[in-house]
Amino acid sequence: MCGILGVAGRPDAAETTQLGLFALQHRGQESAGIVAAGTDGTFHTRVGMGLVSEVFAGGEAAGLEGGVAIGHVRYATTGASQLKNAQPLVYNTGHGPVAIAHNGNLTNALQLKKKLEARGAIFQSSTDSEVIVHLLARQDGPIEDALIASLRQVEGAYSLLLLTPDKLIAARDPYGFRPLIVGRLGAAHVFASETSALNLIGAQTVRELEPGELAIVEGGKLRTLKPFAPVPAPARCVFEQVYFARPDSVIFNRGVQAARRDLGRALAHEMAGVQADVVVPVPDSGVSAALGFSEVSGIPFEMGLVRSHYVSRTFIKPTQELREHAAKLKLAPVPEALRGKRVLLIDDSIVRGTTSKKICKSLREAGAREIHMGVTSPPIVSPCYYGIDTPRASELIANVHSQEDIRKFLGVDSLRHLSLQGMLRAVGKGDEHGWCDACFTRRYPTPIPDYQVAEAVK
Ligand code: AMP
Repeated sequence: MCGILGVAGRPDAAETTQLGLFALQHRGQESAGIVAAGTDGTFHTRVGMGLVSEVFAGGEAAGLEGGVAIGHVRYATTGASQLKNAQPLVYNTGHGPVAIAHNGNLTNALQLKKKLEARGAIFQSSTDSEVIVHLLARQDGPIEDALIASLRQVEGAYSLLLLTPDKLIAARDPYGFRPLIVGRLGAAHVFASETSALNLIGAQTVRELEPGELAIVEGGKLRTLKPFAPVPAPARCVFEQVYFARPDSVIFNRGVQAARRDLGRALAHEMAGVQADVVVPVPDSGVSAALGFSEVSGIPFEMGLVRSHYVSRTFIKPTQELREHAAKLKLAPVPEALRGKRVLLIDDSIVRGTTSKKICKSLREAGAREIHMGVTSPPIVSPCYYGIDTPRASELIANVHSQEDIRKFLGVDSLRHLSLQGMLRAVGKGDEHGWCDACFTRRYPTPIPDYQVAEAVK
């Protein structure tokens, strides 16, 4: 997954972008980058592997001169975790220099790439995002028309920012899988994946860019277009609300923290009558849900696990071995809060089951008498092809094992998932339609040609 941010109309655009990227760091920790367009049209670029604080450790953002800038934080979903794939990607095209920052996954990029290569295209990265630039480089006319023609050929998920020497363009795919928010910072126009970034830089949130909408900032003015054919229904990623986004953000017009609290409340209703002494969240993502669960069930909330903030997200480490180490480093049980207790453990999701198993083991070692696990989403049975880093179908525990086998594997006394309806109702608050829930249902809202070739989807 990735986070994107763009600022148009401030002399310190790159520094403002850097600050905002700190509030999107949870969306990607492998690489970070910023490109600014100088007053003479020259691009100034800094991209590197690592966190924003590492890539810009020496105050490099201040040296990226220009009134318009875009930034990106990444973890790999397509293309390896390598510097050549770090974004924003910069190209010289017949339209002049362009830089692109993309969040989401295209589902026909491999097919398009093969066709482009057959016609002589030479790719510099292994990202799907580069396909968009190759396509637009082959189109005539103003850059926004070239971008629209390019986007008409791609399928899948994109919230993206395109920078040229005199324009900043923001676009969101017609299904609106990933969020993209429009803000104002004084006279400047700002775009960000989440409102957490707008809040941090002191910008006002104006609204969410609509699915299928394009915004062009030129000469200090913003205009919008809706150039794509309408789709049957939007497909906002429900997993953004369940797990991915930051709780202080408002995305898809719903506060993330409030949505998670409602997920916890909904689970408590579905688990009415459960017997436990304490409700313990898996921090950080389970905290809001556990509060909601505790409120409805009347079972006291307890921080029975503490999280070290000096270890980055376990999943984002690229190999299983590194992930195993990081999981132990990250979460520690609080024995006094757990000893002799019947614990109701709340987490947002189970993917491979490996982290949850370790957590349950450490709760037992710390003295928990019983562990009942409540998960605020249904079992994940199918990979995400739209940008969330889920493993292949064969590694998704709920795709290959029964609920009872998973319970035994985790070593818990009982295991309960929130129902699909319960989740959609809680997140949607009266707007249960227009979500992508493919990871829970195997119902993909768009064709996924690249992956049907690469991997048989059950
Ligand atoms: P596991 O027990 O190994 O299935 O891991 C489940 C944990 O991973 C839950 O606590 C989730 O919050 C977290 N998680 C779920 N999806 C992702 C993801 N795409 N990236 C990082 N962490 C995730």
